Amino acid sequence: MTPKLSRTILATSDPETLAAEILRALKYRVGKDTTVATPYDWLTASINVVRDRVIDQWIRSTKEAYDEKEKRVYYLSLEFLIGRLMRDAFSNIGLWDDMRVALKSLGVEIDVVAGLEPDAALGNGGLGRLAACFMESMATVDIPAHGYGIRYQNGMFRQEISDGWQVELPENWLDHGNPWEFERRERSFEVGYGGHVESVTSKDGRLEKHVWKPVERVLAVAYDTPVVGWRGTRVNTLRLWSSMAIDPILLDAFNAGDHIGALRESNKAEALSRVLYPADSTAAGQELRLRQEYFFSTASLQDITQRHLSQFGDLLSLPDQAAIHLNDTHPAVAVAELMRLFMDEHGVDFDQAWDATKRTFAYTNHTLLPEALESWPVALFDRLLPRHLQIIYAINAQVLLEARSSGHFSDEQISRISLIQEGGERRVRMGNLAFVGSHSINGVSALHTELMKETVFADLHQLYPDRINNKTNGITPRRWLIQSNPGLTGIVRDAIGDKFLDDVEELTALDKFAGDAAFREQFAAVKRANKERLANYVSGRLGVKVDPSALFDIQIKRIHEYKRQLLNIIEAVALYDQIRSHPERDWMPRVKFFGGKAAPSYHNAKLIIKLANDVAKVINRDPSVRGLLKMVFVPNYNVSLAEIMMPAADLSEQISTAGMEASGTGNMKFGLNGALTIGTLDGANVEMKEHVGDENIFIFGLTANQVAERRANGYNPRAVIDASPDLSQALSMISTGVFSPDDPNRYRDLLGGLYEGDWFMVAADFDAYAATQREVDKVWSDSPDWYARAVRNVARMGWFSSDRTIRQYAKEIWNVAQ
Ligand SMILES: *Cc1c(COP(=O)(O)O)cnc(C)c1O
Repeated sequence: MTPKLSRTILATSDPETLAAEILRALKYRVGKDTTVATPYDWLTASINVVRDRVIDQWIRSTKEAYDEKEKRVYYLSLEFLIGRLMRDAFSNIGLWDDMRVALKSLGVEIDVVAGLEPDAALGNGGLGRLAACFMESMATVDIPAHGYGIRYQNGMFRQEISDGWQVELPENWLDHGNPWEFERRERSFEVGYGGHVESVTSKDGRLEKHVWKPVERVLAVAYDTPVVGWRGTRVNTLRLWSSMAIDPILLDAFNAGDHIGALRESNKAEALSRVLYPADSTAAGQELRLRQEYFFSTASLQDITQRHLSQFGDLLSLPDQAAIHLNDTHPAVAVAELMRLFMDEHGVDFDQAWDATKRTFAYTNHTLLPEALESWPVALFDRLLPRHLQIIYAINAQVLLEARSSGHFSDEQISRISLIQEGGERRVRMGNLAFVGSHSINGVSALHTELMKETVFADLHQLYPDRINNKTNGITPRRWLIQSNPGLTGIVRDAIGDKFLDDVEELTALDKFAGDAAFREQFAAVKRANKERLANYVSGRLGVKVDPSALFDIQIKRIHEYKRQLLNIIEAVALYDQIRSHPERDWMPRVKFFGGKAAPSYHNAKLIIKLANDVAKVINRDPSVRGLLKMVFVPNYNVSLAEIMMPAADLSEQISTAGMEASGTGNMKFGLNGALTIGTLDGANVEMKEHVGDENIFIFGLTANQVAERRANGYNPRAVIDASPDLSQALSMISTGVFSPDDPNRYRDLLGGLYEGDWFMVAADFDAYAATQREVDKVWSDSPDWYARAVRNVARMGWFSSDRTIRQYAKEIWNVAQ
């Protein structure tokens, strides 16, 4: 066997050569000379220079996987929150510093140019960002992999804050073109919808096969983006599908004068890949969404099966050569689609097709929230995908037979195992479909996986007890440490050498530097510089002045009631009240930062944004606070903003109601950048506590079991509120209009929810949270102690690398070499 080409070390280039190449690219690819070049032209030229080297490695990686008949991973995800790609690619291939020098010699600042690249926000939040970190880690640990998704013309909306309210604007990330992508017109597949199913019988009257005759058809066209692993070892492909009409214009109609009608088909087809649904942790529910899910599932499977057939000639060996991963249930219809391809297109019988399908697919569950569990009305499914519904019925019959014949299941359990929800409008349960069609179902943190076994999938777990397993999420240390925090990376290299760059778990060597005063001072200086950068950003964009010597307390994530930004805001109000009533106490200066988008239809989430802004306005202007507390809502939280905020945090807020956050990955990014966490025992916080040690994390509040118990035994939030003077006072300030004099009733319903039911246990956890915040102040006041804990967080966060996660997937789920 030839040595793996991808392990060969890349030839680097010197800055002079690169500068000459940049000028060439500016001239011959952009068509400009230096006198008229805009910063954007420099961006395009620079990317072109590095891209050429990426492409060489990309072609090698792809050819090697083919020649060696390596098993491939196909990661299907409706979201890839990739952010900017320039720094990632330049840095991973080892050219960032040389390109910086080269551009400098041409009078261009690389940071300015890099800041012009649009942030590709093809996802909502954690789920989409996980897919992006996984793609980078698969390239890094040398797994041949393709990501498959949709090339949304408009990704996540851009958030502006107007008078404290969220305003949603379209993000036109493709306006200037996208130098990272390659259109592959030749890789296009037809996608059908609707129509009917014909049965073909042989001469002796036996049913031979089913043929689906869709009435609507559109084209899925591939766009490929290279994904560069660390040190350029391997370059994988992110293939995103764009929709196109098969006949872009109906010439008959056009010639007859119906110019609009002539384009109707085309507009309708293109709508499919126009927008990302901006809902997070909520099922989108609309027909267009189901169309999107099928669109990218079938295009990806046609691509995968065609590639497999052309290389191996026989489809039944697919499970040996391909692991197809379903990132949540969004691509779950792929289970039925692969069955259809096997049976209807390749003449495989049901039993063999079902066996091969299960051996091919694996599924990751991302949430236990009932509102996020996807299901589609049977009537809608039948109208759009009649053949798939038949197949789902056939699968269901098989599964229910297995359950019944085991004799271990009650009728009630059988009805919960069924792929069809009966009673009322009949619906197809996508989670159950993904479960039964996969050999592996994983949760994303230890706690989440256990809860999955006890709740949503309790019955299916009893039927198939060896399928559920845990794969705790991770983040890529390249983007979230090396690129976004060069200052910290630099002092860590000086302290422990370079090993951690290739294996971030080597960061444990930093542990002993927690006790080294000189190192702690370097650490504090780096943190201070990162905080100044954030302070400048906030002052430039929002005109709010914050003091970088204050404790930077940050909660950035999607706005959701279960994530409890409200708890944080109410605590800020209580603290504000205390600072005013006890000015003599030794208050620790603190800036509370918030950031995050609310789903446009999520009323309470939007109100929470308004409340944060209302409270900030009053606190920031009150001279009696003497700058001891400031509050800032930073608009348009996205990957690029995260890259500025994570390195600047002292305190990371991870305060979801226990049992509701599947994992969290923001928590890991903060920890890796040396923030201490204040959090509940939820999601991966539990494992972070085990890794960093109890003394290096601030844990408070009810556990998941206690939350369940309280809910079951008649939790009475009113009594809890009455028993807490601080909480009562804070709530009364909000509800009497102290922060909303223009509309004193603005928060009546929002706070009403706390008195009536308080599903998210804000009241139950308030006192513990507030007390823990004062504990935080105490530690912060002893800065050697604080920074010692912060250094230990960095040293012990290596396990939360997505390289570790991906190695576990490779070994325990996909059975691929790495
Ligand atoms: C990491 C990340 C998330 C996920 O944050 P959580 O705190 O885990 O919810 C969401 N959005 C962006 C832009 C991120 O980078």
